[in-house]
Amino acid sequence: MDMEEMTSSLPTSGLNAVMNTLVDAAIIIDSDGMIRLINPAGEDIFGYRADDLIGQNIAILMPEPYRSEHDDYIRHHLETGETRIIGIGREVEGRRNNGEVFPMHLAVGEMGRNGSTLFVGIVRDLTEERETQAAFDALQLRHFHLSRVAAMNEMGTAIAHEINQPLAATANYIETAKILSAQAESNDERMADMLDYALQQNNRAADIIARMRTFIERGDVILETVDLDDVIDASLMLSLSKYRETELEIVRRIAAPSRYVHGDAVQIQQVFVNLIRNACEAMTDSETKRLMIDARNDKDHADMIRISISDNGSGLEEEAIANLFTAFTSTKSTGLGVGLSISRSIVRAHGGRIWATANAEGGATFSFTLPHARTDVHDAS
Ligand code: ADP
Repeated sequence: MDMEEMTSSLPTSGLNAVMNTLVDAAIIIDSDGMIRLINPAGEDIFGYRADDLIGQNIAILMPEPYRSEHDDYIRHHLETGETRIIGIGREVEGRRNNGEVFPMHLAVGEMGRNGSTLFVGIVRDLTEERETQAAFDALQLRHFHLSRVAAMNEMGTAIAHEINQPLAATANYIETAKILSAQAESNDERMADMLDYALQQNNRAADIIARMRTFIERGDVILETVDLDDVIDASLMLSLSKYRETELEIVRRIAAPSRYVHGDAVQIQQVFVNLIRNACEAMTDSETKRLMIDARNDKDHADMIRISISDNGSGLEEEAIANLFTAFTSTKSTGLGVGLSISRSIVRAHGGRIWATANAEGGATFSFTLPHARTDVHDAS
């Protein structure tokens, strides 16, 4: 029986051709759940040949518990008209010939003719989409984790710095109080003890801070040749996910000899993400949003590459520029103000520098330098 014959009750002429060209699987079953037709995409997705499926119950393409329940489901639908899927479409699981269970989107249509009902199912295999999504989620999670760790480090360093001074001052005052109390006429031994205890506690706090600083300063850095093109791709994906619908023009200019830097890929990515996010946030109210990423050899330092990220956003006040990179400086209601200070720590740890300028035509440019991965690029010369 050929396709036209099997579906002769259908009004659509050329159904055969349509089915064959669909990238989604299309399967037609009758009211007993028997497969009457499956297109080539369906053969690929489920791993069967059409001949092996035609005449079989559709349940063969489903994992349990759907497999055992499906006949009852069709019967119930035909008797009552109730439906859980027809005309709605949803995500279910399919089962391939090799037993693999996979996620798929299923849309089902019903075609009733002369008492004999046919159902057409359109199946989209979601396996690849899920894998890509999982890889993206894992990358994003790792990045968020690292940026939190970096933010904590940065805060830790700032707190350590801020607290050291009052601790040192308190120690001085206690020492002086001890001397004074020893000289006082009403010399009370308990007073001397109390001051000793206070000094011990104070020194303990100072020790903790000192240890915290050595811990923070030790971050592991993995140095390798890093391809800026890859880092920028990943950074744009991570930073722009929430800007997807907005109109944003991205201009990338990576001069060929400036494509490879020597550094820690994840850390460099963090600098890009911080700067790209800031640029996008600054452009929230800009009518046309334009992000420019530019990398070229640093004309002042032959062994460095200079990267600039410019926007046409709210711009920078000259007076503010000096403090931007200090921890906890933020103009945003929910901003932590550590992004730029983390970026500065990372760039400095790579031997580079970072600075900001206000663009003459509005907006801001953040630039930083990183060491050239020279040996890898110029071997031939
Ligand atoms: P946060 O983004 O949490 O505020 P950052 O350290 O990343 O912390 O940035 C500090 C401040 O620098 C921001 O609050 C903002 O005022 C300013 N800033 C950073 N990037 C830009 C930019 N591209 N355009 C205008 N202002 C910016």
